[in-house]
Amino acid sequence: MISVWREASPSLPAGGELRYDLGRVSVMPVRRSDGSMKVLLASPRGFCAGVNMAIESLDLAIRSFGPPVYVYHEIVHNKFVVETFRGKGAVFVDSLEDVPEGSNLLFSAHGVSPEIRRVAARRRLNAIDATCPLVTKVHLEAIRYAREKYTIILIGHEGHDEVIGTMGEAPEAIVLVEHPDDVDRLEFPPGTKLAYLTQTTLSVDDANRIIRRLAERFPGIASPPKDDICYATQNRQEAVSILSSEADVVLVLGSQNSSNSQRLKELAVERGVRAYLIDSAADIGSDWFRGDETVVVTAGASAPEQVVQECLNFLRDRFGAQIEMRSIREEDVHFPLPRELRSLSLPVVP
Ligand code: SF4
Repeated sequence: MISVWREASPSLPAGGELRYDLGRVSVMPVRRSDGSMKVLLASPRGFCAGVNMAIESLDLAIRSFGPPVYVYHEIVHNKFVVETFRGKGAVFVDSLEDVPEGSNLLFSAHGVSPEIRRVAARRRLNAIDATCPLVTKVHLEAIRYAREKYTIILIGHEGHDEVIGTMGEAPEAIVLVEHPDDVDRLEFPPGTKLAYLTQTTLSVDDANRIIRRLAERFPGIASPPKDDICYATQNRQEAVSILSSEADVVLVLGSQNSSNSQRLKELAVERGVRAYLIDSAADIGSDWFRGDETVVVTAGASAPEQVVQECLNFLRDRFGAQIEMRSIREEDVHFPLPRELRSLSLPVVP
């Protein structure tokens, strides 16, 4: 295994930049002189600790309580995972009105607003909270800033499940911004105390652009004590950023509605590399490759390793691809099961 290590620059103080802003790198596509395809398999890639915990929770809930187990929104934003669980008896709903009273209900990794928790309690649902702890951390920061009378600028994508949940913690105190230009349109009465928070799955580069603009317009704006963009998002972006410099093409395994997967594709494109976001090898276009390219393969935090391996098999079979592992950073993060499930223990089904 070839490992490339790169030290992270430390987190910066209030109004500063998040880590891993690697800037632009010059891109020199590597043409394979022997005419064969080379695949650089990025690591870390795929499931993060939050997704692992959410998936394990749903699996355990179905096996313990029996189907159906209702899930508020998709358990994670991945077609393959959602369809697999549908086959096992999970029922995904966008409204709690669709959940019969007294049923088992699981909140997905993206988290929910307090209003959804209240409705679940009113309907006597047996709620299991599989919110990723790193999303909960952002919720708690929002609650704290709102309590201290700050106006919170949340950097995130409108309509994303996580953003809806976070804004629901203090709707009257939170303003959403998506682009640096949005910052220019913000107006607050003199003396307003300001703080910013970010969605966990943003592009580090994009977030830094917005944070820089915020710091210029509102010097002294308070920032969270620790980055909100999670370790998994940052590490997967870092790997793509580094490996893109060697790539002709980047393949990102993940679904179109997966925020962190989309950011990986965009990052490669920003680095000047052709990139595709695909659910599986079946999505690979017949005219994407000649067969002599260097291809980086990675996966968003909600994409299972199975679809990665199927993609590698396809590239091996079709183009004789040689696979080379490239580990940019080690990950060793695990989250405990939700408290509602901790007392349950069933044998693991292979
Ligand atoms: Fe948690 Fe990050 Fe994974 Fe989202 S991507 S579930 S915030 S670890």
